Amino acid sequence: MSSIHINRIDIFQVDLPYSGGVYRLSSGREYTGFDATIVRITTNNGLEGWGESTPFGSTFVAAHALGVRSGIAEIAPKLIGLDPRRVERINDVMDATLIGHEHAKAALDIACWDIFGKSVGLPVCELLGGRTEVRLPLISSIHVGDPQEMRARVSAHRSKGYIGHSIKIDGDPAADAARITACLADKQPAEYFLVDANCGLTVETALRMLNLVPSGLDFVLEAPCATYRECISLRRRTSVPIILDELAITEASVLQSIADDAAEGIGMKISKHGGLTKCRHLRDICLAAGYTLSVQDTVGSDISFAAIVHLAQTVPERSLRCILETRDMVTVRTADGPFEIINGLIEAPSLPGLGISPRLHVLGEPIASYP
Ligand SMILES: [Mg+2]
Repeated sequence: MSSIHINRIDIFQVDLPYSGGVYRLSSGREYTGFDATIVRITTNNGLEGWGESTPFGSTFVAAHALGVRSGIAEIAPKLIGLDPRRVERINDVMDATLIGHEHAKAALDIACWDIFGKSVGLPVCELLGGRTEVRLPLISSIHVGDPQEMRARVSAHRSKGYIGHSIKIDGDPAADAARITACLADKQPAEYFLVDANCGLTVETALRMLNLVPSGLDFVLEAPCATYRECISLRRRTSVPIILDELAITEASVLQSIADDAAEGIGMKISKHGGLTKCRHLRDICLAAGYTLSVQDTVGSDISFAAIVHLAQTVPERSLRCILETRDMVTVRTADGPFEIINGLIEAPSLPGLGISPRLHVLGEPIASYP
């Protein structure tokens, strides 16, 4: 393989206002916008790769926007001169430079995959294992609110073709049972409902809530409790399928949940896991375990969404529940590309790399460059 190496890494910062006003999660958490870090890697032969990492505020998982940029400042100098197509070796260097801080590594890793694709004229999904024939279904993200108002937001997404719905709850058993009941009241046969507590329940409140929900409602419960012990305890006493998200970050944590039969699947979020390379490992581990996958990111703009689409395009249909349309959650467009949604479904484009063209006037000047 002819020599390609990283010459320069530029960092951009973009504010992404939340499209729905105030996003409310369990434990009183509120978000009005998100701080995106976008990376451009340039090679010696003039290829450019793009990546994004946008944490969901600083109270969702152990990640925050300043940490993304501080982590990149630690790592980026070590990547100059390396071949970006050797994605596993790039990750070896990133992990040897900085332990954890996966959200900082994600944008760099995604940009390397974009270059890899452009260097061989193939879309990223082909390099990640090859595209399936699946047209990818979208999932909505319904923040905590009044039950009937949440039901209306589900309907609004349904009318746009969404067949997955992520219903956020806040830890009050009776109010949460009412939210679930209202949101599922108009459920269509093909729809998939994820009730996401974002770790806001105790085992006690979770069991009380489940006892108050009418029997026969079809949903899975995501991230019920803050600790793994509580999730295991709850699982022993309910037949509701459990999906892990905030507690499923590393390969070791997912392997432990498989060993303990702790869940039916995970919410895969590219920046949470450190990029596409690590998501590829996790995808294969989860498929081997018979887990289902929702392919998402914490949030993000067009570049994050492109990475989501390429990764999800490699998950077999029986295991793929839905993908998150991050663009729907923010009001700023950072890139263009053929990512058109038709009747709530999307396919990865066949352009080389991620298939996006960043809007340079939106990104502005780099706020940091390496070397
Ligand atoms: Mg979640």
